[in-house]
Amino acid sequence: MSNTQIQGKDFYNSVLQFYDQAAQFSKLDPGILSQIKACNSIYKVNFPVEVDGHVQVFEGIRVQHSHHKLPSKGGIRYSVYVDEEEVMALATLMTFKCALVDVPFGGAKGGVKINPRTSSVETLERVTRRYASELIKKNLIGPGMDVPAPDYGTGSREMAWIADTYLAFKFGDTNALGCVTGKPVGQGGIRGRTEATGLGVFFGLRELLADGELLKKLGMTSGMAGKRIIVQGLGNVGYHAAHFCELEGAIITGIAEREGGIFNADGLDVAAVFKHRTESGSILNYPGAQNVAEASQLLEYECDVLLPAALENQIHAGNAARIKARIIAEGANGPTTKDAEKILIERGVVILPDLYLNAGGVTVSYFEWLKNLSNVRFGRMGKRAEEASLRRLVSTIEQTTGKSISAQERELIIQGADETSLV
Ligand code: GLU
Repeated sequence: MSNTQIQGKDFYNSVLQFYDQAAQFSKLDPGILSQIKACNSIYKVNFPVEVDGHVQVFEGIRVQHSHHKLPSKGGIRYSVYVDEEEVMALATLMTFKCALVDVPFGGAKGGVKINPRTSSVETLERVTRRYASELIKKNLIGPGMDVPAPDYGTGSREMAWIADTYLAFKFGDTNALGCVTGKPVGQGGIRGRTEATGLGVFFGLRELLADGELLKKLGMTSGMAGKRIIVQGLGNVGYHAAHFCELEGAIITGIAEREGGIFNADGLDVAAVFKHRTESGSILNYPGAQNVAEASQLLEYECDVLLPAALENQIHAGNAARIKARIIAEGANGPTTKDAEKILIERGVVILPDLYLNAGGVTVSYFEWLKNLSNVRFGRMGKRAEEASLRRLVSTIEQTTGKSISAQERELIIQGADETSLV
């Protein structure tokens, strides 16, 4: 991953440039367009947490980009690169993502400047609970106000800590579990949420590869089978997206992570690489694969599809001309800068944009939230609500692609989500 490219300021500027370009096609009053563009509220807090017997000060941020529709919605990121402008950019993207897939939320995002990989579980729990308390005491989260979810560096464990902290403050509020989504299934979560983002990425890519003018223009054969894919990021999104593509016959030739990259032209076994990383702490030295010391170089390797599923600004003016993939499937938020997009489009590369491609997560979050609000009991009713959420994921894909998914496949998706299949 190219760390020099993680600059919140550049990312936010790039998002604003995308907005301005799109706004040119709108007939709305310029004042209204400025209101839509602006972040409605920005909250920054420094709080102390004891780490190994010493007090350490952490910086937490929550940005609510749009109050036009409440609650606002968006993940919480844990990373050393978190800064105000990065969170503003991510919150802005959430507003348009929710609008695109017709999920009735405004956009928001949060972040804590912390390295989740080198912090102990105890520190992560203390930081999460304290950050949640800071937001709760300012009335900045809640089922009708702003509903966080997982993002880069956080997962269902952190969401459970947030929900538990919220419940302690709001004891007796029957809607309280709807204060956060992406929770473990046993704690008010919903089946299918964990893999939803990666599954959506897979569906979107598969639609493009099925047939159509774009595919013809690319001179590519139809179908996922045999397509060579390089994935950046083996987190929740990257892992599941790669896993579903692999199941459909794609060859995952390269995986890039913070510590470096690995490449095998004959294909990598994604689950085995994940296991190797969990056990050894690194994807490097995976048996049978070639190590790539500088992970960012892997983005420039020969492949059919490049699937960035980590951080923003990874494909930029400095490397766009050297990217060999014909398709870029944006699993991450904002992985391609505005300047890079121009270069890639001129070169005939097709970009499947983040706003659409990674919207599976928030789509299923919507159903988790609804389930929590209506206090649907677990068991039969719960299962129905979960099936409804996966149906909605299917229909969202159909609406945005203008194509239908076969009845047989629909049932497979709706019945197939199973917590046991998750990492
Ligand atoms: N962090 C995810 C995203 O960027 C999930 C948002 C949500 O479920 O609220 O879309």
